[in-house]
Amino acid sequence: MVATEELKAVLGRASCAPRALSPADMAFLLALESPEDESALFAAAYALKVGCCGKGVAVRGLVEAGNVCAKDCLYCGIRRSNRSVERYSLAADEIVAAAAEAKSLGYASLVIQSGEVEGDAHARFIEDILRRIAPLDLGVTLSLGEQTEDVYARWRAAGATRYLLRIETSNPALYARIHPADCSWERRLECLRALRRTGYQVGTGVMIGLPGQTLDDLAADIRFFGEMDVDMIGMGPYIPHPDTPLGKAAPAMADERRLALGLRMIAVARLHLHDVNIAAATALQALAADGRERGILAGANVLMPNVTDPKYRSRYRLYANKPCLNETAALCRGCLDRRLASIGEHLLYGRRGDSPHYHRRTEND
Ligand code: SAM
Ligand code: SF4
Repeated sequence: MVATEELKAVLGRASCAPRALSPADMAFLLALESPEDESALFAAAYALKVGCCGKGVAVRGLVEAGNVCAKDCLYCGIRRSNRSVERYSLAADEIVAAAAEAKSLGYASLVIQSGEVEGDAHARFIEDILRRIAPLDLGVTLSLGEQTEDVYARWRAAGATRYLLRIETSNPALYARIHPADCSWERRLECLRALRRTGYQVGTGVMIGLPGQTLDDLAADIRFFGEMDVDMIGMGPYIPHPDTPLGKAAPAMADERRLALGLRMIAVARLHLHDVNIAAATALQALAADGRERGILAGANVLMPNVTDPKYRSRYRLYANKPCLNETAALCRGCLDRRLASIGEHLLYGRRGDSPHYHRRTEND
């Protein structure tokens, strides 16, 4: 069986020009379920990934810098109220060592991620690390949550070039259902605007398969990415954590369905946005061993293997079944090389892999 005429027409239109999908087109693509239709969707998105970002997969070493968090998001395993978590914060030397290891493995970019810590001492701590790793000449992405514009600007001046802050959902009512009252969707939006003003390559994303989330919500998420004109997308399936209010309250959609929806979101985001960087999130791998490779074949072009010392990894557990808990960074790299070779892809060693969209939108500045 081949893809229907309607599907072929939508895919053809999307492939010709960015931002060509209507909300109804997106919801139609996100609802596809037959293997033939999904194959046609993924093939079109993968062809666009190769056309806009080239063959090969950009790689960032991921440092999970600490699991201390001031926030209490209802879905997250390291939320401040989870008393069963053994808290840690990497020392500056440990983060610098992880950055050096990433460099020695041939990764030209790094992501530093942690729970949310505000205040001047923490801002200075990160600034100091950024200055210490500057000689390594890595592209540095931060994912350190909501901060003041001044702090974002200081970190940018100290060498960070990209920032990932997921909006989690573009639907403020759904956001309110999965966060406590002291979290504000509007503040998160304002942070994304502040990041853009301070000159970062800005990334955002959502969780996919949240209880109560509809296909129209997900279509609106992709529209939101376009309207915010973001450079990078980091999104992945929601995975319940048993020690969280949301994990206890609501049964999640079956793993295979959530994975399939996560892959379709990648494909539709690629078809709508064309030249942004899209990561194949680790959460895909938590749902299926080959989840990340399937993410690449659905149109993602970035992978973020963990370079954190394995002794800390089990403590940075956002959701159940976190993969690669005991693997060293070198083992992760070997595994990824083999997995990507099996789908005719490869890691782009020695290349920073900046967002083509960022370069395009700033070339006339
Ligand atoms: N604290 C920072 C923040 O929230 O922006 C950065 C680290 S936070 C752990 C990174 C992302 O983890 C969040 O944006 C959220 O989407 C994701 N996350 C947390 N709990 C999750 C879960 N149960 N399933 C899937 N993703 C989850
Ligand atoms: Fe903290 Fe981020 Fe988890 Fe929310 S998602 S509890 S801000 S680490």
